[in-house]
Amino acid sequence: MDQTGIVFNIQHFTIHDGPGIRTEIFLKGCPLRCRWCSNPESLTARILPGVYKKKCIGEKACGLCDSVCPEKKKGPSGEEISPLAFYRNRLVGIDYDRCSSCMACAEACPSEAIKAWGRQMTPEEAMEEIRRDRGYYERSGGGVTISGGEPLLQTDFTAEVFRRCRQEGIHTCCESCLSADWDQIEKLLPPTDLWIADLKMMDPEKHREWTGAGNRRILDNLKRLAEIPELELILRIPVIPGINDSQENMEQTADFILKEMKGRVRTLQLLSFMRLGEEKYASLGMPYEMKSLRFRRDYFQRKIDRFAEYFNSRGIHTLVGTREKE
Ligand code: SF4
Ligand code: SF4
Repeated sequence: MDQTGIVFNIQHFTIHDGPGIRTEIFLKGCPLRCRWCSNPESLTARILPGVYKKKCIGEKACGLCDSVCPEKKKGPSGEEISPLAFYRNRLVGIDYDRCSSCMACAEACPSEAIKAWGRQMTPEEAMEEIRRDRGYYERSGGGVTISGGEPLLQTDFTAEVFRRCRQEGIHTCCESCLSADWDQIEKLLPPTDLWIADLKMMDPEKHREWTGAGNRRILDNLKRLAEIPELELILRIPVIPGINDSQENMEQTADFILKEMKGRVRTLQLLSFMRLGEEKYASLGMPYEMKSLRFRRDYFQRKIDRFAEYFNSRGIHTLVGTREKE
């Protein structure tokens, strides 16, 4: 039987992650915990119900989620208590330790106050989505991008989808943080046309502090990728104010690219921090750590432009943003 994937989103007609018009499949599960992540629903591979409390029409008027939940336990006075928590008549959260992720509550909710973050998918189901946009790939030079979360945590599914894309002449792109064992990367080398990888910061301790893991494995994997003669690689720095936006970090990054990447980086992209995902954090009962981050957007943007000039002056083809050509 085909390896199923755990997918949290599929976007059609995207133009940001790879050339042309693309279909992008976002997988659940990530080995990093970047504190600026705008997709908190991608972090765990577990399919979870998220709560949008403003949409709840009220326990008294509705209460369907609570009535269908199979995970009730007896309270102190013998009442049945589900993992669903109400406050002032509205659903405000779910105790995920007691929730079995059955999604009965999300299916029963009439007002979309509960959203299932994730679903299982076979490679053939993914291909049905992908084939819908075939005409756009052909006209624009586009294709399919698998992103996440982290595709290297679901390599069997990703490799199978890419293998089928190859058979049908569809361009494939893997967007990865590269924080994985090399044998997982190796599985994806044959069917992947283009890699997009992050290089968030060079200082290993800062990397650990802000992403939850060191950068040794990422740098080693980049060096090994650079040894592959035909490899196509785009490198990205998500530039976050006050975290990795120092000249020192940019200089160390340039040194690494020039010394270790053997001219294999076809473009370096500098991505400006965007305050996104706050509602999704709230839906999962998670704190959004970037809430208190304050910075001047115009000043910050000029700083990123100067970094791009710096990289270009050192001979590294660099653009601001996710488009490949300007
Ligand atoms: S997903 Fe299932 S177990 Fe979890 S709260 Fe909803 S109904 Fe209950
Ligand atoms: S089913 Fe939806 S609308 Fe009804 S109480 Fe539950 S969350 Fe609110």
